[in-house]
Amino acid sequence: MRCRVCRGRAAIEVRRHNAAFCGGHFVEHIQRQVQRTIDDFKMFEPDDRLLLGVSGGKDSLALWDILTDLGYQVDGVNLELGIGSYSAESTNYSRDFAEQRGLNLAEVDLEGEFGFNIPAAAQSSSRTACSACGLSKRYVLNDVAKRGDYTVLVMGHNLDDEAATLFSNVTSWNLDYLARQSPVLNETESGLARKVKPLIRVAERETAAYSVIRGIDYEIDECPMAHGNTVNRIKEQLNLMEQSSPGFKQRFLFGFIERGSAVFREGPPPELNACTVCGSPTTGDVCAFCKLQDRAAKRTGESND
Ligand code: SF4
Ligand code: ZN
Ligand code: ZN
Repeated sequence: MRCRVCRGRAAIEVRRHNAAFCGGHFVEHIQRQVQRTIDDFKMFEPDDRLLLGVSGGKDSLALWDILTDLGYQVDGVNLELGIGSYSAESTNYSRDFAEQRGLNLAEVDLEGEFGFNIPAAAQSSSRTACSACGLSKRYVLNDVAKRGDYTVLVMGHNLDDEAATLFSNVTSWNLDYLARQSPVLNETESGLARKVKPLIRVAERETAAYSVIRGIDYEIDECPMAHGNTVNRIKEQLNLMEQSSPGFKQRFLFGFIERGSAVFREGPPPELNACTVCGSPTTGDVCAFCKLQDRAAKRTGESND
């Protein structure tokens, strides 16, 4: 295999682009894919104040590296989820990355600031750990973005994440989620920050390869709460489809974004009220995060006694 650009020895093949690249040209290829996504979806401009959700995994750290290399000013925020040594290690990877590159990283400790951790949240509600975790991340990262006057909240979801989430939402016909699944969600008057996903053209194995080539240390271990996660099972199935039909995931996701998603956004958006506890936008009286916090904090208190 030869690099498409320099004809040198290729380090990685990207079958859906019918191409292979040496290390240096693969890095250029990935950065070009991300810049193209930012431009095509008008995600942000160089003078925007960007806040990136950083987990310590390959996707968010690779994205931080890509965006700073492309010349954007990006601060990070890490949410310590309280999932044993996994969370502590993930935070350390985020911290080390930021320190080595002189970048700003805000750290939020879920238990220290909100009185609960993800294992307690999963035990005290009907939500799975990943559902409680996703809700907590969305809430806390939005809160940090608004309080810090950031103009855009950047998330590290990759092509595999988005295709699997779309598949899950289609198979359960979750119309609300389908209406909101988008590379860009605009800021709302009700208090949600503008949210963007610049990695959606980059596959998971590519962020891993990018991180290795760029010498980025990241959390390799899988989260211990991930077992049974539906999205992970769907990813395995989509990988089988991708093997026999290169480009399957990209066609599925981008077909939806370009031709399907508008169908699900017809009609007025739901009316939002201010949560009576925290003031965040919600369709009811008390937002889902405050409800989760209420139950999970009691559980965390009991297990700490
Ligand atoms: Fe959170 Fe689930 Fe990911 Fe673990 S696997 S970090 S619980 S979303
Ligand atoms: Zn090359
Ligand atoms: Zn609330």
